[in-house]
Formats: sequence, C-alpha cells, structure tokens
Amino acid sequence: MTTTELQPATLPAVPTGLFIDGRWRDGARTFDVENPATGVVLASVADGTADDARRAIDAAAAAQDQWARTAPRERSEILRRAYELVIARTEDFATLMTLEMGKPLAEARGEVAYGAEFLRWFSEEAVRIAGDTTVTGDGRNRILVGRAPVGPCVLITPWNFPLAMGTRKIGPAVAAGCTMVFKPAPQTPLTALLLTEVLREAGLPDGVLNTVATTDAAAVVTEWVEGGKARKISFTGSTNVGKILLGQAAKTVMRTSMELGGNAPFLVCADADVDKAVDGAMVAKLRNMGEACTAANRFYVHRDVVDEFTTKLAERMSALTVGDGTAPGTDVGPLIDAAGLGKVERLVADAVAKGARIVTGGERAGETGYFYRPTVLADVPADAELAATEIFGPVAPVHVFDDEDEAIAAANDTDAGLVAYLFTQDIDRAWRLSDRIEAGMVGLNTGLVSNPAAPFGGVKQSGLGREGGRVGIDEFLEYKYLAIPKG
Ligand code: ADP
Repeated sequence: MTTTELQPATLPAVPTGLFIDGRWRDGARTFDVENPATGVVLASVADGTADDARRAIDAAAAAQDQWARTAPRERSEILRRAYELVIARTEDFATLMTLEMGKPLAEARGEVAYGAEFLRWFSEEAVRIAGDTTVTGDGRNRILVGRAPVGPCVLITPWNFPLAMGTRKIGPAVAAGCTMVFKPAPQTPLTALLLTEVLREAGLPDGVLNTVATTDAAAVVTEWVEGGKARKISFTGSTNVGKILLGQAAKTVMRTSMELGGNAPFLVCADADVDKAVDGAMVAKLRNMGEACTAANRFYVHRDVVDEFTTKLAERMSALTVGDGTAPGTDVGPLIDAAGLGKVERLVADAVAKGARIVTGGERAGETGYFYRPTVLADVPADAELAATEIFGPVAPVHVFDDEDEAIAAANDTDAGLVAYLFTQDIDRAWRLSDRIEAGMVGLNTGLVSNPAAPFGGVKQSGLGREGGRVGIDEFLEYKYLAIPKG
C-alpha cells in the first residue's frame, strides 16, 4: 500500500457549471452528485436545459468551419498537451472517479492511464489522415479522395468509465477536426467537467467542445439530435437508449456510432490452464465491480474442469475486501446506486429460485452504500434471467458444457455480441472457436481486451462502429471525392 492512498478523499477543485462557447456559465438550476459508498453529496452541478443545449450546439456549429481548417499538427499538439495535463493530474482524476462512482483508487488510477492514452493515441492519428488518388477505368478522369470532418458531433457517455469514455470520443473528434457537444452521465459529471477544463487549458479554441451535464438527458439530446445542426452522434450506454437515439438520428439522417450493452460469454475448455482462466475471470468479472459492458456475464466451463474452476474462483472472490474505494486495501467498491444494487439482488434471487447454488457471496454487504459481495453461482440453469441480462455487478454464474458445439450455441444465444473470452491451450481449437463466436472482440487466454490501440466495438445489438485503434478516427471523417478530368 502506498502512503498516497491514506488521505485521498478530499474532492479536488472542479468547475461545476455549463461549458459553452469557451466559457463556464451558471445554470438556471443544479443537481447533486452523490458518493455511492456513503450517500454523501459531493457537489452541486449546473443542470442543463433544452435552452442550454441549443446554445451549446449553436456554439459548436459556429466554430466548425474555422476548426476544420486548423492545421492537423495544431489539433495534434492540443491533444498531446491534454494528455500531459491529465497524467499530471492523475490523483485528482482518480480521486474524483472513486468519489463519484465508487471504483477503488487503484482501478481509478488505471483508468486515468487508459483514458489519457486515447488523447495521446489520437494526437498521433491527427497528422496521419490520408486519402488516395486513382484513375477512372476509361482513363479520362483522376479520382482524388480526401477526408473531411463530419461536422458537429453529439457525444454521450455513461457513468462506469467517466474519463475513458469521454476521451475515447473527444480524442478522435478533435483529431478529425469536428466540434462537439458533450453530455456526461448525471451520476459522474465531475470527471467530465474536469476533463473539459483540462482541454480548455490545453488550448482547445472556444466553441469546439461544449459540455452540458443534465438530469434531463432526453430534452438536451433531442435538441441536439433532432435540431438539424449536428451531423453525428457517438453514444455509449444501454442498448435500450441506443435504440431510441437511432430512431431520433433517422429523422436527420445523422451518422451514428453506438457502443451498447454486452453479455459476454467466458468459455473455459477442458484443456485450459485453469489457474490462468481463474486469473482472467477475476479481471473480466471484477474490473469496475462488474459494471462494464465487457464484463464476463456467463461462464461456460467444461464438465472436466468445472469443479476445479468454480472452487478456485470462489476462493479468490471470497478473499476480496469490499468497501469504500478510497480506503487502503479495498478491492471491490460499491455499485453505482440503489437501482444497480436492487437489480443484482433480484437477478441472484431469480437464479437461486430456479436451482442455482450460491458458492460464495449472494448478499449485499453493509447497511449504508450500495455494496454487494463478490458472488459465484454454480449449477445455473439456462433459463435464469441473468443469462439474458447484463448483471452489472460482481456475480459470476457458472454453467457446465460437454462439447464445443453446445458451448458455441450457448455463447451465441444472445442479441449481444460485444466481447467473448476463450481459455484453451489447443491452438486449433482457439482459432476454430474464435471464428465461430459472434462478437466484435475475443480475449484469448486473457480477461482484458480494452486498449486504445485496438478497435473496440460489437456486432449484433452491441452496436455500430468501432472506437480506438487505426479505424477509430474514421467514425468522425467523411470521404470527399474530387473528379478531375485528365488533361
Ligand atoms: P446506464 O443504464 O448505464 O445508465 P443509459 O443508456 O441509461 O445507461 O445511460 C447512458 C447515457 O445515456 C447517460 O449519459 C444517460 O444520461 C444518457 N441517456 C439516458 N436516457 C437518454 C435519452 N432518452 N436520450 C439521450 N440520452 C440518454
């Protein structure tokens, strides 16, 4: 334990207003941000209205033309400076995230490194935007294909990764030359507001980024999506809200990037290294208390190794310390709110009623805060509600399988297709099963796939488009083709 973990709980100074056209402004009303570990109110934040939303998108639209014409190197340097500033303020960002959403400080520091890296990655991509030239088949015309920013973007982020989900959208938008309106989740606005301030300090021109926190997401976002001035929406959140936004985006034929829910299968084959599978399961299940769209949601374990895997996983899970994320030694923080805790309790009760056995955990911890014990459920029947629902909590349901076809059928028996985890030491099986799993990402003998250098995204109802990697910037660029007769 480092000594910096001993007194971390003081809230850093954070702007709490609306950020529109390069200025912090007061809102007509405010809302409270609560610490899920204690229920204590951390801050009151300006609560944006539809009028504020209109001012924000007007500022973004007015800034677009000038911003699109800035030199790529200038945009790159702004992102690079923002990266340095976020890293320099690691403790402030980490403390904010722990206080407003509960993750343990060590994990929050990990998110600072991960989130900042999107700024650095896209600072490098900003100067590598390339087109091409060819000649038409009949030889009469040159085809010159360039890239142009799509225009003002609507960015909407969830509460589970308050920094990284912001930088993963802002990084490529800035690199591509798009202006932005940004709405963070109401549970975690403080991290987004500090990020906004850091980008201002890094030299982002007025109007390029406009941040509006609100408790009335529908009013603010409708203004942006249906108002006609924005050209693109990039959303990370639930599949249900994603579907609403896709419907709204249809009205103005807006480009869309959607990172929606997952329901990740975690397959452990008979030939797997069980200890490595347990290590992977601890990360895939418990990172962020299980509150991640990449969280392993269903464990399918071969009958030959299911007892060993379940016993070892339960031993590791029951040894974890549940508590306030600011306290030294905490492994598992609180869930985000009463609704999140209630959902986990309900899903476990349903599985148990249908025949599942609690190996460890299975109950909330403490009377205050929204804590739930790390839980392993064995003998989970296929019709348990949690097999079809994102649990978003530290609960590992273990199902048994006997052959590959059965495992693949079960893994793919979902509308979601974000990520899958596969543990096997047989290289042929690894390729074969990776090919057959319907997911945008596969973790092969690893419980962690997220990385700024990789294309993050899903198939089926897990979303549209990719974030990060070489292709992440494409979501914010249009092709523009110039026909030039050959002389
Ligand atoms: P979660 O269940 O993880 O909170 P949501 O999809 O509800 O997921 O939230 C993700 C983001 O979408 C948050 O910023 C939230 O405020 C926003 N949001 C929720 N409802 C709407 C809506 N009707 N229109 C636009 N954004 C919304």
